[in-house]
Amino acid sequence: MPTVKDVDLSRLNREQREAVTAEGKAVAVFAGPGSGKTTVLTSRAAWLLQQGVTGGRILVVTFTRAAAREMKERLAFHTAAARDLTIGTFHSVFLRLLRESGIPVPRLIGEGEQAGMLRELLAEKKRPWDEDAVSGFLGQIGYCKNHLMLPERMNVRKEKNIAFRDLFHAYERLKEDRRVWDYDDILIQFYRLLRRPGSHSFRNRYLHILVDEFQDINRVQWECIRLLLPPEGRLFVVGDDDQSIYGFRGSDPGYMLELVRSFPDARRIVLKTNYRSTEEIIRAGQHLIAHNRHRQPKELTGVGVRGSESPVWMEPADEEEEARCILEALRDGKETAVLYRTSTQARAMIDALVQENVPFSVAAGDAAFYRRWQVVDVLSYLKLAENPDDLDALVRVINRPKRYLFGDEWMDGLWFLSRKTGRSLLECLPELEGLEGYQKKHLSRMVREVAMLRELSLTEAVERIRRNIGYDDFLSSMARDLGQDPASLREPVEELSVAVRRHPDAASLLSHIQTVEQRVREKPEHPQVRLMTFHRSKGLEFDRVFLIGLHAMVIPHRRSLQVPEKWKSRAWEEERRLLYVGMTRARRELHLSVSQTRQGRRVGPSPFLKELGYRGGEPPPERTEPSQIPRNRPNPEQPQLRHRKEPVRIGDELIHTRWGEGRVTGIIPLDGTAPGRKVALRFETETRTLHYELSRHLG
Ligand code: ATP
Ligand code: MG
Repeated sequence: MPTVKDVDLSRLNREQREAVTAEGKAVAVFAGPGSGKTTVLTSRAAWLLQQGVTGGRILVVTFTRAAAREMKERLAFHTAAARDLTIGTFHSVFLRLLRESGIPVPRLIGEGEQAGMLRELLAEKKRPWDEDAVSGFLGQIGYCKNHLMLPERMNVRKEKNIAFRDLFHAYERLKEDRRVWDYDDILIQFYRLLRRPGSHSFRNRYLHILVDEFQDINRVQWECIRLLLPPEGRLFVVGDDDQSIYGFRGSDPGYMLELVRSFPDARRIVLKTNYRSTEEIIRAGQHLIAHNRHRQPKELTGVGVRGSESPVWMEPADEEEEARCILEALRDGKETAVLYRTSTQARAMIDALVQENVPFSVAAGDAAFYRRWQVVDVLSYLKLAENPDDLDALVRVINRPKRYLFGDEWMDGLWFLSRKTGRSLLECLPELEGLEGYQKKHLSRMVREVAMLRELSLTEAVERIRRNIGYDDFLSSMARDLGQDPASLREPVEELSVAVRRHPDAASLLSHIQTVEQRVREKPEHPQVRLMTFHRSKGLEFDRVFLIGLHAMVIPHRRSLQVPEKWKSRAWEEERRLLYVGMTRARRELHLSVSQTRQGRRVGPSPFLKELGYRGGEPPPERTEPSQIPRNRPNPEQPQLRHRKEPVRIGDELIHTRWGEGRVTGIIPLDGTAPGRKVALRFETETRTLHYELSRHLG
């Protein structure tokens, strides 16, 4: 048997050691972020090996594949026996076991193919749909499957629900016909396998099951874990109800309580020390999450990490300036993450990184802005203007907005006409044979409008597509037909209108899009900066974190405000947890950014920021004491703005008597009575947070 190096428990605190070595059928470690839950879980696996448990009898479930990989590496460092350990996500572990059981696992389909199948079914049923509706249905189907609510057992009465169940059913049958599974089928099929008589070989396999991020477990996963655990087996889970953020996928922190119910003598261990973040960051996080009513209150204290800085507010003018400030900050080489609520928000940051040639990593899905269908529509208009023979572009937009030219027979006629007359496909449109007067009118207008686009700057052209050509109205009427929120449907075009400002013409934009796609695929191994959604950041940590776009309607997201009244407070609390997860990723520096405009409009800050003490947009509070320093004689310790501007803004250049030239990189909230404002400043050699008394020097 391979020898096991001693697991170093001396690095751990008393509670952590207790958790690692705890006896008993079930052990649950419930504790706040950064308290070492994942550390304890990994140490426990190593310790079990050290106790002589064979690797093959230990199962460790992590939340992401990256986490599994990292844990494997860490364990391999301890012992070669770690090789036999089963470590992975629920999906990967169950898939491996299904394959091992001899069950033929068909081809697995990803979201793209799932969406394609749904589109086919919706078209067959002649139901109106758009991409957002399709992804909405996919989400609902996933939610149901994770809850083990299968269509054949769904007892529904409302017409809308019946329609959904039928679609769900048809989708399941279509998958069967095509002999494919989606990823949720792995869970369902494994559950079925475990319930079959004779599945005991699996049920005796793992003596120890360890689960990280237990707060995000869902019904089918929980049932599988229970079935997998043999009577003499031991369950060890770690989690934090405050970080449960996958409710929309059916996860439920209620299983943490259920665990205690199912295993009445479960050991509960609480960890109270946060080793990750500075005191200030911990305090800000605690302050925010205390506003949630549905939670288990918990204590969390820091270990007084040196260099404690308050979270820094950033108030850039818009998304572009936000991206520029972050790029500027990146020059110091610190490990950085940029986190956002929705993937559209990554657009400005990615554009800036690509333009400045800074290596970064981002999930392909987050970088898919220029592939959103609304964006592709507008781009097709631009392409058609450049090349009126671009048939793909023409077909794409012919009925967006409606021009009443349906089917595809017209295409042959159009080719023929174009050949005969030597004119472009676009120009020949109104001359097609057999057109009714109203069709002709719409098509002639389209030809005129598209031709005009070429005369305009890119920004004007996009504006014209949206207003004069009527693309925005088309989206609004589509939203009406689908019963969807028009603002959500329009969001990608709003973003595009901002994105195009960086480019002189369509050719520049199109080549930029190609570069973006290429750069996203590059995936550098150790990028200084990583971009991801709040969701994806769970469990990770970074020296410096920027949370960008913290606006109203973004977090809490518009969608969570549109749920029925009785679910509203729950949805709102899940959004608050999301922000909490994002904030608690930071080790040393946390920047909270809320630009004054978003997508060209003035927008307010997220209501959660108020809970954090943000008073943006409001005048500084009255001074409590009269100033001792005369207005016209500056305090030598106070930096002077190079160009006197009011109010002080991120990016402003300044001179400091001690540190020389610098730049404002952030604005920190007032703590109530302070007379001025704190600003974060970057000088040639260092970053400083100073109390900057604006009223004195700019007033
Ligand atoms: P999250 O809830 O965000 O997943 P967590 O509770 O899993 O957080 P870990 O990621 O395990 O926390 O630990 C956070 C950081 O604290 C890590 O960098 C880890 O190495 C460090 N850490 C954990 N325990 C100790 C300890 N006893 N002494 C010093 N550092 C520790
Ligand atoms: Mg963790």
